[in-house]
Amino acid sequence: MDTRIGFGWDSHAFKPGIPLRLGGMTVDHPEGLAGHSDGDVLLHAITDALLGAVAAGDIGSFFPPGDPRWKDADSSIFLNLALTEVESAGYRIANIDTTLILTTPKIAPVAGQIRARLAELLSIEIDQISVKAKTPEGMGLENVAQCHAVALVQRLPESEELKSLSAVIESHHQAEDVVDDLLSSVHGTPKRRTAPVYDTEDIT
Ligand code: MG
Repeated sequence: MDTRIGFGWDSHAFKPGIPLRLGGMTVDHPEGLAGHSDGDVLLHAITDALLGAVAAGDIGSFFPPGDPRWKDADSSIFLNLALTEVESAGYRIANIDTTLILTTPKIAPVAGQIRARLAELLSIEIDQISVKAKTPEGMGLENVAQCHAVALVQRLPESEELKSLSAVIESHHQAEDVVDDLLSSVHGTPKRRTAPVYDTEDIT
């Protein structure tokens, strides 16, 4: 299949006195969105849309909400994981469209900045990401922000697919090296050695 589509949705309640995080940036507002992580409803909806596009599960299956590791986490971690899943499935983002539903703040004045931040986080061009907003007329949800997102992904040409896969493998190796270094610095554990697959004494 050359193209696939994914859909994501999320909601969080407003809470006074915490920063409002939307699309990986802080938006000036007296209330933020409460959540186990930083409550970034826009990043959560996009993350689920990307995971859905390659049928890789959802945000909760990778990052369970009760897990203390993700308490107050920057949601760009979740987005990054979804992007890696898209790439390792052999796809890249064609475009993403989103609609926020909230009473305040007005999104239009900051939509350009949010799109630029999302383009940076997703390594795409700004015209590949759209951020729109509506008010929840007649829904009785003045204290809640919701977000809908759709993501279209397209299959990478074979040559780029190999490049993308080797980048994913390389980043896994780098992560293993970091863990090794940490283990040896904390416990004095020697680094893992790769054992030869044959008996060096008996190669004649
Ligand atoms: Mg959420």
